[in-house]
Amino acid sequence: MRKDIEPEEISPYNKVAVDRQDGFSKKLLKWYATHHRKLPWRETHDPYKIWISEVMLQQTTVPAVVPYYEKWLVEFPDVQSLSAAPLQRVLKAWQGLGYYQRAKNLHRAATLIVNEHGGKIPEDYETLMKLPGFGPYTTAAVLSIAYEKPFPVIDANVRRVWMRIMGRRKKSTPKEDKDIIKFMKPFLPMTEMGTFNQAVMELGSLVCKPATPLCFLCPVQEFCEAFSLGEQEIIPRPQRRSYRKIEAVIAVMQKQGKYLIQKRPPTGLLSDLWEFPGGKKQTGETLEQALRREIREELGAEIDAIELLTAVKHAYTQFQVKLYAFQCSLKTDPSLSKDGHRWVSLRGLKKYPFPSGSAKIIQFLEKREKEQRGAL
Ligand code: SF4
Repeated sequence: MRKDIEPEEISPYNKVAVDRQDGFSKKLLKWYATHHRKLPWRETHDPYKIWISEVMLQQTTVPAVVPYYEKWLVEFPDVQSLSAAPLQRVLKAWQGLGYYQRAKNLHRAATLIVNEHGGKIPEDYETLMKLPGFGPYTTAAVLSIAYEKPFPVIDANVRRVWMRIMGRRKKSTPKEDKDIIKFMKPFLPMTEMGTFNQAVMELGSLVCKPATPLCFLCPVQEFCEAFSLGEQEIIPRPQRRSYRKIEAVIAVMQKQGKYLIQKRPPTGLLSDLWEFPGGKKQTGETLEQALRREIREELGAEIDAIELLTAVKHAYTQFQVKLYAFQCSLKTDPSLSKDGHRWVSLRGLKKYPFPSGSAKIIQFLEKREKEQRGAL
């Protein structure tokens, strides 16, 4: 038994006896040693690589992250190369992962690490927490996995596992974390904190799944209150995600084979990314009216001909957008700014970071151009 744990630190949510708690981490670590997925960021203790993987993995699945992670390390192999890269290149490498603020924070933090910490990722919790993008999760993950410091991590997977072990009949939200940390203390191992953290995350991904936990495969089943109550499928309490639905219109305009794109403002949603001109449809407008208004407002120009090309859907964190792309020609010259607008060839568009909805429109344009070439 860990000598630093007082009996009153054992949570009332679970009746696990103190003398069984060593068994918890032993069983979990043994299971992890044989069952964990071989992933590139698990082959290293390099804090830079751990940091990049942990930021990419937030809200994104492991299979989706692997190619991004590998490509990123070729382009920015260390904190120095990331710090020296222009922001637009960093955003381009991030394109498709969403939550672009994270890429900006990586870039800003890399610059601070190079300028103020001699290029070494700090090993101390308070210092790390001061860097852009380092919240409690990322800080604890980097410190425990790269430096074996004794900080437990909590993400959605980990929270679900612990809430089930506790038998906690509440919704899974960060509000639970304080109680979870208090509860888990006696279960934490004396060493191998990084491996323990990864093992709980892996258990949440592979076994203790959200809708149908595979309890018959679980190495810590005997410690699980939800399992003993038969409530593992309703703990934590399910929550419905409601997306705001938005319709938006964009204008695909061409001049001498080039497409007009514009840069989004430096703050706010999808800031600093590029897009085709256009915007949200307002209540009571038709799609065409919305497009004519947006182009008048954004470019001071009047649309002449208009033809619907395609419509794509994309879900962002709090809303789902249906994006209608129209091929347009203009009656009057648009008013363009040097830094905010560009005419770019289809191939050249690949160099610019776009939100995922616009990237789907570009895929459509590439396909269309290929078909047109094939028809000649
Ligand atoms: Fe999750 Fe089932 Fe294991 Fe409990 S027994 S931790 S519900 S997989």
